Amino acid sequence: MTNGDTHEATTGPLLAARDLVKTYGRTEALRGVSVDLRAGEILAVTGASGSGKSTLLHCLAGIVRPDAGSVTYAGRPLEGLPEHRLSELRRTDFGVVFQFGQLIPELTVLDNVALPLMLAGTARAEARARAGEWLERFGVRGQEELRPGELSGGQAQRAALARALVSGPKAVFADEPTGALDSLAGEQVMTALARTARESGTAVLLVTHDAQVAAYADREVRMRDGAVALGVTA
Ligand code: ADP
Ligand code: MG
Repeated sequence: MTNGDTHEATTGPLLAARDLVKTYGRTEALRGVSVDLRAGEILAVTGASGSGKSTLLHCLAGIVRPDAGSVTYAGRPLEGLPEHRLSELRRTDFGVVFQFGQLIPELTVLDNVALPLMLAGTARAEARARAGEWLERFGVRGQEELRPGELSGGQAQRAALARALVSGPKAVFADEPTGALDSLAGEQVMTALARTARESGTAVLLVTHDAQVAAYADREVRMRDGAVALGVTA
C-alpha cells in the first residue's frame, strides 16, 4: 500500500491487532490479544518463553493468519487480502529480522541486502549501490563480498537489519534480534536499529525477553500465557 494512504493511516495506529486468537493443537498461543503499533514507534513485546510473542509478531506481519480476531494495517484489514496481495504488502511495507540464519548463505553479503530491491524490480547495479549504503549505515564495511558465514554474529545481524530496511518499509518486525549475540554485539545491533528506525520513521515491533533490549523501545507490552499481562499498557 504505497501512495494514497487512508485517513486512518495518518491518524490511527499503523497496525492494530484486535482480539487475536491462535491455537496450535491444544496450545492456545494467543487468547484474545489486542495491540497497536503506531507509526514510527518502537514497541517492545516482552514475556517469558512460550507466552505467545512470536505468534503475535507473525500475525501482525501477515505471516500467520489468526483463527479469530483481526489485524488492520493502515486502516485496512489483512484478513480480506488474498495471499498474493498479502505477500506483496510484506515485500513493500514490512521488513523482518529473526534471531539468526535468515541471510542466504550462498549469496554475498551485498547481494543479500540488495535482494529485496531486485525482487521488487530494481536493476542489479542500483540495488547493489543502495545495499552498500545501508551496510555502511549499519557499520558493515569492507565485508560486502564475503558470504554471511564469514561474518561475526553481530555483523550478520546488522546486515540482516540492512536487508530489512533497504526497501524503506513502514514497519520492521524483529524477533529476538539479539538473542544469539553477546551483550556488546547486542548493544551495537540495538543502537543501529533504534537510530535508523528513528531517522527513517520506521515503526519497529521488537520481540525480546531481555529487559536491556526492551529499554530501547518507546513502549512495552508484556505477554503472559497468550494474553497481554494486566498492569502493562498496550
Ligand atoms: P514465544 O515467542 O513467546 O516464546 P510462541 O509464540 O513461539 O511464544 O509460542 C506460544 C506457544 O505456542 C508455545 O506453547 C509454542 O510451543 C506454541 N507454538 C508456537 N508456534 C507453534 C507451531 N507452529 N506449532 C505448534 N505449536 C506452536
Ligand atoms: Mg519466540
